[in-house]
Amino acid sequence: MTLLEIRGLETFYGKSQALFGVDLTVDEGEVVALMGRNGMGKTTTIRSICHLTPARSGTIRFAGKDIARLRPHKIARLGIGLVPEGRRCFPNLTVEENLLAAARTGKWTLAGVNALFPRLAERRGQYASTLSGGEQQMLAIGRALLTNPSLLILDEATEGLAPVIRQDIWRAIRTVKKEGQSILIVDKTLSELLPVADRCTILEKGRTVWNGAPAALDDETQQRFLGV
Ligand code: ATP
Repeated sequence: MTLLEIRGLETFYGKSQALFGVDLTVDEGEVVALMGRNGMGKTTTIRSICHLTPARSGTIRFAGKDIARLRPHKIARLGIGLVPEGRRCFPNLTVEENLLAAARTGKWTLAGVNALFPRLAERRGQYASTLSGGEQQMLAIGRALLTNPSLLILDEATEGLAPVIRQDIWRAIRTVKKEGQSILIVDKTLSELLPVADRCTILEKGRTVWNGAPAALDDETQQRFLGV
């Protein structure tokens, strides 16, 4: 079943148009990689889905509902869990308080998240402000999972982190996928991203230009749209 369906999305920052027609779908249980070079509109697409930078036109349907006009907290409550670029935690709450702040009952529990990220369990009583960047990213992912979202959105979740921490986060993403979680993911590390993705959607200059299975993403397409 289609969980998220976006058609003809157009989004502006003031007078400057960033998206010119994004089409994107995520099916239940699917991991979709949203790809494209820098500045092509990946983060803007995510911000539009969550109504942080509302779309001017196009349709956004989630679980069969038109969500284009809903406020961000309503969208979160409907089941979209966002881990935004630049991880945001409450610095003056402890790790455990951060995790539980937005928790809702469901498959993901505190114990489950602690098993996924043992480092968080070890630091459960520490203030989030004292965590390393990588630990804060784990906390942001754990917190989103604990809202028990139907769709988890990860925007550059491994960006700028030490290699060993990136490995931990990719391992967690693979585990979360195995649990059947639907995921929309943006990440620059193709060697990790492609094996975890069921489908790729590529943006160029604010438009969807390619959509298909990772195996169909040949060298020519990668060169043309991703510059690798
Ligand atoms: P990156 O990989 O660099 O994060 P991206 O694919 O996520 O890139 P966006 O951040 O969505 O791309 O940017 C799409 C376009 O919108 C770019 O031309 C960018 O300059 C512009 N843009 C992004 N944020 C803003 C903003 N706050 N104000 C004005 N223009 C913006």
